[in-house]
Amino acid sequence: MPELPEVETTVRGLARVLEGRRITRVEARRADLRHAFPKDLGQRLTGARVTGLGRRAKYGLIHTDRDDTMVFHLGMSGSWRIDHAKLEKHDHLLLETDAGTRLALNDPRRFGSVDLVATDELDDWPAFRALGPEPFDLDFRDLQKRLSGRTAAIKVLLSDQRIVAGLGNIYVCEALYRAGIHPKRAGGSVSFDRLKRLIVAIGEVLAEAIEAGGSTLKDFASPDGELGYFSKSFAVYDREGQPCRCGGMVKRIVQGGRSTFYCPKCQR
Ligand SMILES: [Zn+2]
Repeated sequence: MPELPEVETTVRGLARVLEGRRITRVEARRADLRHAFPKDLGQRLTGARVTGLGRRAKYGLIHTDRDDTMVFHLGMSGSWRIDHAKLEKHDHLLLETDAGTRLALNDPRRFGSVDLVATDELDDWPAFRALGPEPFDLDFRDLQKRLSGRTAAIKVLLSDQRIVAGLGNIYVCEALYRAGIHPKRAGGSVSFDRLKRLIVAIGEVLAEAIEAGGSTLKDFASPDGELGYFSKSFAVYDREGQPCRCGGMVKRIVQGGRSTFYCPKCQR
């Protein structure tokens, strides 16, 4: 499943071929993914120039000179493919540019989505309205305020989109490990110093993953290039029963219906 670093890598890859380009052709090859494509998608995007790209939580943003933003989500299995020699069954949306580039949004499981939103109304778009700050924009005082007095586990709170947007289970586990914070600790009881360490850790684990994904970018323009997936290595995530660097053993528990991986020796 694409997490925030994959979405960021995808957006950077798309920016290379879309930024400043005019969209010359739009083809929806089916009516929907998770929900219907906007009926006027082709009409609003054809002829529009892409003015910039961005990301909010796990959504990619393609801004146009018509004050529209195409908002896409990769769901469980989505990816963009650039200039593939031939179309595949699950290439559900095609965009062509005035440079002759063809982009295909491929999504076998169809949990992804595509929407068109007025650019100046993005903050009020229902999926964005309640989102907390981006993980790279976390402010110490603000996070402290959001966690203050909370008795819920820090792991569960960091997974809440209203507290931090789009962090994702993997990176919550890795950041807590790096900051030495036990995942069951009450959010409001994390000390001043360790909260500072946590903010640094969140930025680091995401930046490292984006860097790892960036190294796959050089391949994306090849005929088999696909944006969105790359392998990463983790300190605790998905490593139940395996040794931690400290000599202890990584444990798995379930919190809020999701697996948490942590080291009981390193995290207090
Ligand atoms: Zn350890």
